[in-house]
Amino acid sequence: MLCLTLTGQTMEENMEILARNRSFVSMAELRLDLLDCEDPKQMSLIKSFEHDSGIPVILTCRRKTDGGLFDGSERKRNSILRKALEGGFSYIDLELDTKKAELEEYAKARGTRIIRSFHDFSGIPENTFSTISKIQAKGEIPKAAVMINGIQDLITLYKVREASSGKEMIIVGMGQYGVPSRILYRKFGSMLMFCSEKDTGNTGILTPSAMKQLYHADSIDFRTTVFGLVGNPVSHSMSPAIHNSGFEKIKFNAVYVPFLVDNVRSFFHFAEKLQIGGFSVTIPHKIAILPYLGRSSREVKQIGSCNTVVREGACWKGSNTDYYGFLSLVENDIANGKIQSAIIIGAGGAARAIAYALRNRKVNVLILNRTLEKAKALAESTMSSYDSLENASLYSGKADIIVQATSVGMNDEDADAAPNLKLTGHETVCDLVYSPAETAIIRRAQASGCRIIHGMDLLLAQGYLQFESFTGFKYP
Ligand code: NAP
Repeated sequence: MLCLTLTGQTMEENMEILARNRSFVSMAELRLDLLDCEDPKQMSLIKSFEHDSGIPVILTCRRKTDGGLFDGSERKRNSILRKALEGGFSYIDLELDTKKAELEEYAKARGTRIIRSFHDFSGIPENTFSTISKIQAKGEIPKAAVMINGIQDLITLYKVREASSGKEMIIVGMGQYGVPSRILYRKFGSMLMFCSEKDTGNTGILTPSAMKQLYHADSIDFRTTVFGLVGNPVSHSMSPAIHNSGFEKIKFNAVYVPFLVDNVRSFFHFAEKLQIGGFSVTIPHKIAILPYLGRSSREVKQIGSCNTVVREGACWKGSNTDYYGFLSLVENDIANGKIQSAIIIGAGGAARAIAYALRNRKVNVLILNRTLEKAKALAESTMSSYDSLENASLYSGKADIIVQATSVGMNDEDADAAPNLKLTGHETVCDLVYSPAETAIIRRAQASGCRIIHGMDLLLAQGYLQFESFTGFKYP
């Protein structure tokens, strides 16, 4: 079940939020701490909310200490919850450290299930496992909302499922490291997951449309194969949109999840626990994962960096689809002689893959980089020439293809890594930066009449190849 946390300040606003998201969710959480419960009209709408909405509702009045807004007395909170309960609700969320015997009896008598929650914004409390078992033994539903501070915590959270032997519980991993526990909530043994239009407390909560349409989180079952992106950061990535829509189109039971990874070794441990089928790798882990691969393709060994990993029998196999993705875009022009010489701007990881791809196809390469030593090192290992980026103007009109492989221009449409490198119109210009789509160098290339390869073209080309490695099928 996907549960929509309603963050409106009035019940009218909450009705609108629910109406907008009704097709994505099957239940809702009503946060009394965000509402004016002293207003009789609001209280009347609160009471009839479950009836009016037609879906099960969790009634909550969250204290400030638990991440909510209620800062009145416990007596007051008790009385608000008691009054609201009169309307009839499927669930009431009461914290572990609040004893409200009368309210609890009243809730039980009305058929309202008690969710017994505990929140920890610093990490996973040591007694989490035993606390969950004790709550379950009382016939209540435990809810643990705990901060996940790294992949190791995610492994600990996953183990809760193993200890709970299939009984009802709600497990929420908060923070950016906890996002996989939200998407994969059914694999983590949680009976439901919250989603919200707003992430007010930076808890990593996802929107209803992301949970339902992008990740199909409520359809994930024990047969669903998990794929993902390993990097830091990962929240900006377009890869989940590429892969999940591909899986959906070919009806492949799989999900692609962004994994924020602080420690590659721990991630491999987690990947074994979850039997992850494969993953993409991005900055800064493309080199750090190499020692964990049982097999590597030829180009990974040559470039020394890997962006695609798939499970192959008992081991992990690495390949580099930046390399093949780029080649797929220029192969024909190399074959028919249109591309014989290249300038690569940059000497980082992406420039490295492209330099090897071009040199392996016998294209002459010149590397221009801000830091000369890095240009020199890459040039020596690929048998290319090099120079400082400052001297770019000397090479105007001297190459068939110019590949902009620095991060300059990312989120800044006016930044140009080599403004003095003049374009004649006969070159192909490729900018690896894909956001914005029209960078400064791409606009110059358009104005000069050059053939253009956008960063998005490469992103998709390498993504399609990854999809093929993951599923064995062509991208639809
Ligand atoms: P990286 O390893 O960190 O390398 C960054 C490169 O950018 C280095 O050559 C660095 O020069 C240069 N650079 C950074 N800031 C600069 C500045 N202000 N002026 C001049 N040069 C500067 O990163 P990467 O993995 O190679 O990625 C580079 C870009 O390609 C990123 O924007 C990435 O998103 C994009 N990319 C896109 C795709 C795609 O599919 N479209 C695939 C891979 C990468 P120094 O050596 O002097 O520091």
